[in-house]
Amino acid sequence: MKSVSFLLIILLVLTSNTSHAQEEKKQPETERKMDTKYCLVIHGGAGNMAKRNLTPEKEKEYTNKLKEALEKGYAMLAAGAEAVDVVEAVVKILEDSPLFNAGKGSVFTHDGTNEMDAAIMNGRNQDAGAVANVRTIKNPISAAKAVMQKSKFVFLSGAGAEKFAQEKGIEIVDTSYFFYQPRWDEYLKVKNGKDTKLDHDNSSGMLDEPFNGSVDKFGTVGCVVLDGYGNLAAGTSTGGIVNKEYNRIGDSPVIGAGTYANNKTCAISCTGHGEDFIKIVAAHDVSALMEYKKLKLKTAAARVIKKITDIKGRGGLIGIDHKGNIVMEYNTNGMFRGYIDRNGQLMVAIYK
Ligand code: ASP
Repeated sequence: MKSVSFLLIILLVLTSNTSHAQEEKKQPETERKMDTKYCLVIHGGAGNMAKRNLTPEKEKEYTNKLKEALEKGYAMLAAGAEAVDVVEAVVKILEDSPLFNAGKGSVFTHDGTNEMDAAIMNGRNQDAGAVANVRTIKNPISAAKAVMQKSKFVFLSGAGAEKFAQEKGIEIVDTSYFFYQPRWDEYLKVKNGKDTKLDHDNSSGMLDEPFNGSVDKFGTVGCVVLDGYGNLAAGTSTGGIVNKEYNRIGDSPVIGAGTYANNKTCAISCTGHGEDFIKIVAAHDVSALMEYKKLKLKTAAARVIKKITDIKGRGGLIGIDHKGNIVMEYNTNGMFRGYIDRNGQLMVAIYK
């Protein structure tokens, strides 16, 4: 009799523990304790920008948009949002602005179309989603997130990616939505010169002319976040490079090249000549240097940018580690960039 009641007690304890564990599993992320000092970093593209090429008004437009995106992200983090949701919301703000080469402001391909790429990655569980060569998705970052959360695949492209996005209720627009006159003018100049270039790069001559307000400079956009639960996420969205051909895809949507996140190490988003970032597998390389070589984020990022320089590549990256250390590294004259750090300090900058 004594041993029967003992067994019963054990059984009771076991079942109560199991249901507790199940409850814990079911508990929504937002109800968990926020015990990490959250922060975020963004970029709007790197390139050879010169102060003389931007009017003070245009400069203000850029810095205001960067601030708006950062403040939105930070407010979400303060309210308990998860890193991936913050990445999506922040990138969407930049995609909706014609100032940047993503979403609305995407550059034109050789054929005069817009083909956009985007990726998102959750450092908590290594989930990732990406889309490439999409032409009708208003916010490619949302499509990438839907691929991550609602499909069994990681990387979708072209018409298939658009079909999937539509099925998942992602906003689809007419291709004319992406027409933006300054972009078109920029495309015509580059096309006639038979070159490809970073949208915000003046090294091919076009933007060496003093900025007169008629030609804008834009850039790929990216965001990396450490949320209040200690989770990292990264996202990147782009129109690619001006005058690209043959359905060229850059580094931005390639997990490990232009976008990567891992709670053990860091979250990274890159910008620059995608071909070089793919060859170096840049974003993952920063993480690998931290994981295997135990390098600090700053040292690892500098080393990867040096590798990019060594193969004559140009661009930059933003990163955040699991402790909230921030890095913004580039080998160009400038990078549209900004952060709100662990102490709530906001910073935005364009030039070196
Ligand atoms: N990395 C992008 C690409 O190569 C371009 C950019 O960052 O502006 O598609």
